[in-house]
Amino acid sequence: MLGNLIRDRGREGRRGYTLPKPDTETKDLESILPKKALRREKPKLAEVDEPTVIRHYTNLSRKNQGIDTTFYPLGSCTMKHNPRANETAAAVPGFAGLHPLQPEVQAQGALRIMHELQGFLAEVSGLPAVSLQPLAGAQGELTSILMVKKFFEDSGDDKRTTVLVPSTAHGTNPATASMAGFKSKEIGLDEHGCVDVDELRSMVNETTAALMITNPNTCGVFEHRIPEIAEVLHECGAFLYMDGANMNANMGRFCPGSAGVDIMHFNLHKTFSTPHGGGGPGSGAIAGVERLAPFLPDPAVERDGETYTFVRPEKSIGRVAGFHGNFGQLIRAWNYIRMHGPELRDVTDMAVLNANYVRAKLRGTYRIPYDELCKHEVVVQPPEGMKALDIAKGLIDHGYHPPTIYFPLVVKEAMLIEPTETESKETIDDFIGAMLELAEAKPEDLQEAPTHAPTRRLDETRAARNLKARW
Ligand SMILES: *Cc1c(COP(=O)(O)O)cnc(C)c1O
Repeated sequence: MLGNLIRDRGREGRRGYTLPKPDTETKDLESILPKKALRREKPKLAEVDEPTVIRHYTNLSRKNQGIDTTFYPLGSCTMKHNPRANETAAAVPGFAGLHPLQPEVQAQGALRIMHELQGFLAEVSGLPAVSLQPLAGAQGELTSILMVKKFFEDSGDDKRTTVLVPSTAHGTNPATASMAGFKSKEIGLDEHGCVDVDELRSMVNETTAALMITNPNTCGVFEHRIPEIAEVLHECGAFLYMDGANMNANMGRFCPGSAGVDIMHFNLHKTFSTPHGGGGPGSGAIAGVERLAPFLPDPAVERDGETYTFVRPEKSIGRVAGFHGNFGQLIRAWNYIRMHGPELRDVTDMAVLNANYVRAKLRGTYRIPYDELCKHEVVVQPPEGMKALDIAKGLIDHGYHPPTIYFPLVVKEAMLIEPTETESKETIDDFIGAMLELAEAKPEDLQEAPTHAPTRRLDETRAARNLKARW
């Protein structure tokens, strides 16, 4: 598309910008730069005027579907609205302009925000040992499992080679286990879509390092037997890890630490409304029990009276990110939590209510594989003979970003819908209306969809295998 801009609109010598004058005395840069750093050919950039370039990028941005343009019920991803008050907080010049190597004495405000956020996350999770460093949920998982690994190394226990992962798990869970050097073993589900505790009992032994459980799980179902599961693991000296990407269904209602979870990650870019930002920057803060605290990444923030300092935990696994994590995201999450205060629980209640409202309204038209009270998201299946892919493409023509489809893998033709707490009843009703209308369509009518989008139906296999992200 930029190619078109050059071909169709570009004229040699036309300018849409003026560069600032170099602030060196030397005008003749060619004489001071090494020969091989000099360009031999002019760069192929579009030579266009400013209005053309602004229209080009504005029009491109309008071809994208995002949370600021449409309802975005992408299950498992929690695409909730990013409150603009968070942006105001993150843009405060004292934060936005702070250099990560600024001496601690000059960055006390920033350290205080980090220390307070550590405290908030400890309170929400019931787990006191917090690190804000991991840059994504997946990295929070890896950090946690590396801490578990180091714990066993430190106690001289070299038999712990296995991490158990339920069949509903997000793909990052088994990937984490193998990246940390463990074998992952899959556990099946019971008839409610929850981890099969009897199977767990038969699988756990002295080689088990941890179970990675997601709660609520990726079917949107609450794992109600967590205390029992924790007991099975603890009896044989293993840890219970919780994938906390779905904490917006738990906050203020279910406290992982009190239920026996040993360590977990948060997705600040899901639960605490910080932007997902095109794959990053995110934040996958973690929280663990006291006996894992010595293994936390370096550094953690501590408070001594009125002074905040960075400290290296005694047996730290080391750094998992440059500097101190995605600090801008930490401010946004801090701000979001402060805005809600003790009413953070209302977020959970509303997220759960909205998902159950969708479930109740779609029931009878769509099939609901686990038709019990769900948490913040609900799995549905299209009417017999219809494909999840066709409904999803049809939703694009109605102006919606489709829900997640074909995940969780354990449900055929799955559509995972997560409305989030930030949407009004009117918006959700309109979406339900579109879903019901699409279910009435003849399957062949939807095979061409989307017909109103900037691109028609893509060859998904080629798009995934031969993605060309550059022009
Ligand atoms: C999103 C998600 C992750 C991974 O988080 P990233 O920030 O994308 O790395 C892990 N588990 C679950 C259940 C998730 O929904």
